[in-house]
Amino acid sequence: MRPGLQGFFVRQPLWVSIPLIVALSVASSVGALFLLTELMGLPYGPSFRRSLTVAITAPVLVSAPIGGWIVHLLREVELARQQAQALAWNDELTALMNRRRFTEIGQRELALSQRAGRQLVAMLLDIDDFKRINDEHGHSGGDAVLQAMGVTLPRELRRTDLVARWGGEEFALMLPDTTLADAAVLAERVRKAVEQMDARLPGGRRLRCTVSIGLSEAAAADSFDTLIARADKAMYLAKAGGKNRVVVQAG
Ligand code: GH3
Ligand code: MG
Ligand code: MG
Repeated sequence: MRPGLQGFFVRQPLWVSIPLIVALSVASSVGALFLLTELMGLPYGPSFRRSLTVAITAPVLVSAPIGGWIVHLLREVELARQQAQALAWNDELTALMNRRRFTEIGQRELALSQRAGRQLVAMLLDIDDFKRINDEHGHSGGDAVLQAMGVTLPRELRRTDLVARWGGEEFALMLPDTTLADAAVLAERVRKAVEQMDARLPGGRRLRCTVSIGLSEAAAADSFDTLIARADKAMYLAKAGGKNRVVVQAG
């Protein structure tokens, strides 16, 4: 929900938002009564007091249920919006961001780094022999490995790093403010963490896997696509070199 009055009411607990709505409606109806009385030069006698009772009780009776119902509807809309956003931005299996979202944020991250002259490294990671994992343990075994990757990868990263499921059994990372040497250390740590990863079959049996990782640092002339393409090339060199390794490609 965008900031604004309706967003404010949606974010408050009901015990705050409903009394607030009631207080606002009572205040406006009583205010209107005073204004009318003044403008029309009416006396503040018994008839005014009767009107005042109505001006207080009517908004309480009307605005509490209607306000509560509107806030409830607004919350449902907000929940639906959050669910739609999660579907559009996140990969369902791993809960990592998806390729579309990564591309969107990554392009911006790259532009910011280039503008500020900061270093940035892109990293592509592909699970080795994943087809064999699927063949030997079924699709649910492959899925368990992918889900475990969704837990393991973010654990090794800084909060400012980006990690996404790039597609199939491939993952993409973007490391802002990171030198190629530091990224190579991180990549090696990630490679080892995947080797140690605790992916389990539904029956409890442990699955082992390794990854091949390609790294490349951003150059001033890079676009998002050329940077990723270089990291991809480095990843294929890691495959060609025997898998379960890190290959670094200069910018
Ligand atoms: P390499 O070491 O060269 O990367 O070999 P590989 O077997 O990992 O690569 P390949 O590209 O031949 O196979 C990738 C497999 O990933 C094929 C595809 O069926 C499987 N896959 C893609 N998405 C999913 C998924 O969401 N779940 C599961 N279980 N498997 C998937
Ligand atoms: Mg692949
Ligand atoms: Mg693979």
